[in-house]
Amino acid sequence: MKIGFIGLGNMGLPMARRLVAAGHRLVVCDLDAERVQRLVADGAEAATTPRAVANEAETVLVSLPTPAVLDAVALGADGVAGGRRIARLVDLSTVGPEASRRVAAGLADHGVALVDSPVSGGVAGATNGTLALMISGTEPERQVALPLLDELGRTFVVGDEPGMGQVMKLVNNYLSATALAATSEALVYGAKAGLDPAVMIDVANAGSGRNSATQDKFPNHVLPGTFSAGFAIGLMCKDLKLFAEDAEARQVPLFVGSAVRQLWQHTSDRRGDGADFTEIVRPLEEWSGAEVRSA
Ligand code: NAD
Repeated sequence: MKIGFIGLGNMGLPMARRLVAAGHRLVVCDLDAERVQRLVADGAEAATTPRAVANEAETVLVSLPTPAVLDAVALGADGVAGGRRIARLVDLSTVGPEASRRVAAGLADHGVALVDSPVSGGVAGATNGTLALMISGTEPERQVALPLLDELGRTFVVGDEPGMGQVMKLVNNYLSATALAATSEALVYGAKAGLDPAVMIDVANAGSGRNSATQDKFPNHVLPGTFSAGFAIGLMCKDLKLFAEDAEARQVPLFVGSAVRQLWQHTSDRRGDGADFTEIVRPLEEWSGAEVRSA
């Protein structure tokens, strides 16, 4: 049976590759023809539109940048909803609970189910099959999706209806965004005061300051100055916007969250939405006149 995959970006490409490597027959689509060709070279079949993918495959996975793109790919003119064969869409994107519920309702009108399954773990996790997947959807649909999702990492069932996976993902990314923002301020301060950045990382990782930025982003992407984690600043700002909007709708206060979101917005203004999210440290370095690098 063919599996569909739409959206072969930083995350989608390595995830689709893992499914091909595991022996699945994939039919794939992306606006970027070069990315489609990379999958075709691995043995996948190319399709020109989401509808063409949905004509071929009962299960279609998507990894798309924003809620608006998910809307178009799911329910737009050439969207998967009218496809001949599709029975379920498995959404690996971060789009927030509201979009997930809205798209699920639109797909249901066409007899198509939505399995909400956002992921965490970055490009490295997508490449190595070590992602955390946060799955919500009806039990029978989850049963079909789980064997595929197991190929991509560790699966966690977090709810019975689309949207709960998105809530879990916003919880995770708010924590990740906060850790990276706070670690950037802390390490720029230490560097300005004369501490060696590599020593600061070693001490934090042996002590109570340890977090995902001290364990991964700083040693692998900031200290060497490569800034190549593979997650765009614009996508992190999108996640924090979704988090703030949903928290406000549920009347949950965000004291720290408001400050964190402003720092990310400032980074977007200074570095551009396309820059790697590890560049959040750079405006702080420029302001302070101290760099967090180590050979
Ligand atoms: P990306 O921008 O690299 O990839 C998105 C892909 O979708 C691109 O290849 C683009 O050409 C394609 N696309 C856009 N519109 C399309 C359309 N109408 N039809 C077909 N293809 C279309 O983004 P990414 O970093 O791979 O992230 C994808 C999703 O996963 C986002 O929701 C993001 O928030 C989430 N996410 C990203 C990371 C990460 O580390 N990069 C980690 C976890 C979750």
